[in-house]
Amino acid sequence: MFYLNSFENQKRMSTQDLLLRIAEQVAQGETQFTIAAQGQHDLGGPLWNKDGTKLQFWISNPGQRVGAMALSNTEIVVQGSAPADVGWLNAGGEITVLGDCGDTAGHSAAEGKIYIAGRAGTRSGSLMKKDPTADDPELWIYKSTGSFSFEFMLGGKAVICGMDVDQRQSVLGDRPCIGMVGGTVYVRGKIPELTPEVCVKALNADDESFLRQGLPQFLAKINQISALDELSKFSLWQKIVPNQSYTPVTRRSLQDFRLESWISGGIFQDVFPDKFASNGLVARGIYRLRVPIWRNNLGAAPKEKDKRVNSCRDCRICAVNCPEAAISREVQNEQVVYTSNAELCIGCGICVGVCPEGIWVLEDNFELKSMDG
Ligand code: SF4
Ligand code: SF4
Repeated sequence: MFYLNSFENQKRMSTQDLLLRIAEQVAQGETQFTIAAQGQHDLGGPLWNKDGTKLQFWISNPGQRVGAMALSNTEIVVQGSAPADVGWLNAGGEITVLGDCGDTAGHSAAEGKIYIAGRAGTRSGSLMKKDPTADDPELWIYKSTGSFSFEFMLGGKAVICGMDVDQRQSVLGDRPCIGMVGGTVYVRGKIPELTPEVCVKALNADDESFLRQGLPQFLAKINQISALDELSKFSLWQKIVPNQSYTPVTRRSLQDFRLESWISGGIFQDVFPDKFASNGLVARGIYRLRVPIWRNNLGAAPKEKDKRVNSCRDCRICAVNCPEAAISREVQNEQVVYTSNAELCIGCGICVGVCPEGIWVLEDNFELKSMDG
């Protein structure tokens, strides 16, 4: 057993140094590790032993991505809770967290098993995958998940036991399973209204068999075997799967989506009034990063430090080449004046490039910057 306290000599070891130390030990044949971490990232994967011997980790206080890309010969136990990305892109490892997990637990997992003794955060199980040459990835959660979980799920199995959850609350938060096209989410407890892309079904014999086999191992791993009888009441379970008869509706505009389907009042409604305006891909008006300024120094005496002393020759090249027809020409007090219309201009800078006299300049959009403050 290799024991490592990553807080040595009153100094926290960097993630890189810690990972190198572990890799050195693996190269020397060590297979068991107890790591007292101080928030270092990526502990436990991807590593392999040249003899194929299982690598076992007992980790406390990990940082993000514990068990990320873990391989099939890796077994990890987190002694307590873990932050985001537990088992991200898991490639076969068995990861047990004896507490809660932060956001995106099991995100993009392709193989292996993840066991969570508490809650998992937002977007957990999103993009879980299906590899036809491997066993399905599994994500077992004793309590509940945060919102947006199982988004764009492609394959695998997730099990949400709904234990120790306030029965008034959804055990899947809000808006789970958006865009889910594969896999199965087994759930016990209250769930929110779901997108029509998925449907809820009762368990069949295969589903019950899967749970009957998997639950004892999961509960033993998280020290909750006493809950087996309660969780074996399969009439209290249901499963969420892709809705095979769903026909995608005509694509809506972003504006309509936000008004009809987005969170009422906007996602940051408590700190910022959301006007539900949506901007196109090309910014105009105050949202331009830079704006063209017509700096005509007609009649001005050249100054040493001011190179923009040329005079507009009224050639109209700028107006002709502006892709948005934003430039207009007027005569004021017997002098020609060119202006760019902010509502049409996209800040592309073509006018600056084509002007033979260097009259147009692009400046940072201070109106936009002032919105940051
Ligand atoms: S920055 Fe582009 S869009 Fe704006 S006035 Fe110049 S050429 Fe036209
Ligand atoms: S291209 Fe330059 S010189 Fe020609 S009209 Fe426009 S600003 Fe004046």
